[in-house]
Amino acid sequence: MTTASKSILIQGAEVLAMTRPDGERPVRADVLLQDGKIAAIGTGLAVPASCEVIAGHGKLLMPGLVNAHTHSSETFFKGRYEQMPLETWLLYAYTYISGAPIPDRLLYLRTLLLAMQSLKNGVTTLCDDFFDPMAHSTERLGIVFQAYRDAGIRVNVSSAVLDTPVLDSTPFGHEIFPEHLRNQLTFGAPTTVADYTAYCQEAFRQFHGQADGRLRFAITPSAPQRCTTGMLQACHALAVEHGVPLHTHLLETKVQAVAGQMFYGKTLLAHMHDIGVLDRHTTLAHAIWITDDDIARMGEAGCSVVHNPLSNLKLGSGLAPIRKLLDAGVAIGLGTDGLSSNDSARVFDLVRFATLMHNTGGTPPAQWLSAIETLRMATIDGARTAMLDGVTGSLEVGKAADLVMLDLDNDNFRPRNDIVRQLAYCENGSSIELVVVAGHVVCRNGQLATVRENDVWGELNQLLPAYLEEHGRWEIANRVFEPCFSEVIRRCKATDIGLQR
Ligand SMILES: [Zn+2]
Repeated sequence: MTTASKSILIQGAEVLAMTRPDGERPVRADVLLQDGKIAAIGTGLAVPASCEVIAGHGKLLMPGLVNAHTHSSETFFKGRYEQMPLETWLLYAYTYISGAPIPDRLLYLRTLLLAMQSLKNGVTTLCDDFFDPMAHSTERLGIVFQAYRDAGIRVNVSSAVLDTPVLDSTPFGHEIFPEHLRNQLTFGAPTTVADYTAYCQEAFRQFHGQADGRLRFAITPSAPQRCTTGMLQACHALAVEHGVPLHTHLLETKVQAVAGQMFYGKTLLAHMHDIGVLDRHTTLAHAIWITDDDIARMGEAGCSVVHNPLSNLKLGSGLAPIRKLLDAGVAIGLGTDGLSSNDSARVFDLVRFATLMHNTGGTPPAQWLSAIETLRMATIDGARTAMLDGVTGSLEVGKAADLVMLDLDNDNFRPRNDIVRQLAYCENGSSIELVVVAGHVVCRNGQLATVRENDVWGELNQLLPAYLEEHGRWEIANRVFEPCFSEVIRRCKATDIGLQR
């Protein structure tokens, strides 16, 4: 996928460029892709020599979708869990009591599978907060990058770090957990700031900017309460130095909101602000249990948020105040989160749910999200949260040729009333005919061009059953923690923090 892409001219398609304000309605045009970029958009474009011409009549061209927050680590756990809030679900998806890390070959295939299922659904950019319990090995990270290189998708890959003991970031933890469980509640020896910094610098050196800039490395302290101030500040310095996001989970659950008050005497957002790690590099996944003061600070800082509507619904985390964040000028992207708290890599699902799920609780209709607002989140504003808005997320001359072509004769658009609204309310990925990343066709009529899907599944069918069986045994071992975490949740629920979500 580093070979030069051939030229492609798509003629006479409806083009939804997602540039503001003129590109938010489809306009009929030709689009020329050359050297991995959008070379021209216009009518009656001349056909260059040795160029593939694609008939665009009756088709919609739009920017490739951005999945702004996910974890490839969960890709094998689709459909595995239900009826669990975050703190108990974590025990099973990210087991404390555990065996050896996933073998290298399965690590590769797991990453590849997320890329495959993303590309088939029109996702051309992924932000993968890869979790590899305390390994922080550039060899393992290299396997993840290799899978994304082979699949042909655009990525920000990061490797989550945490250096605060679990009990120290868990409200009431020291009171609730009995002595014999405390020393098992760990992912191993914590990473030091110096080790994580050295690892990240090496990752930047080896992987950042590979494949003509399609592969990038980013920085992910797991969450403010899971990291020391020193780690958060070191992460921020790395993000600023390399011009990449500092991507972290923020205030996903009430337990985390209580943790802020209990351990810092303020909200976790205020803590991030006060230690100087909140600015335009900062991307906050979830941002549900935030106060009006937090929202004002986020707007002033120019940070961005990734909204994960389906993961938040599945884990019962609450409803993020998205309208207030938009009003404060915060850029919002959409994320699936990992596939064990969402169960699909489809960003079109997120568009539909995000457009609908805020119409609750007596909110005035004028404040409900509109189709174009959530489509921005899935494209150009999602790219902003990844600090890639100068590269992808809209169809503009000079930007990367990352796009999706959909069939407007599909049932999702029949009868055709309003393409933008039907994209948000009707599209489920089944209209997708062509997916292009950096000028390369990566998927055509549901068939991946970069990966032999049957071969991947042939291998996975051999390797996965034993792996999942073993994971099942670790799940059983980790049940021992569940009553304690349920008690943590119960006590936090009963704690008044002056906020309800
Ligand atoms: Zn997450």
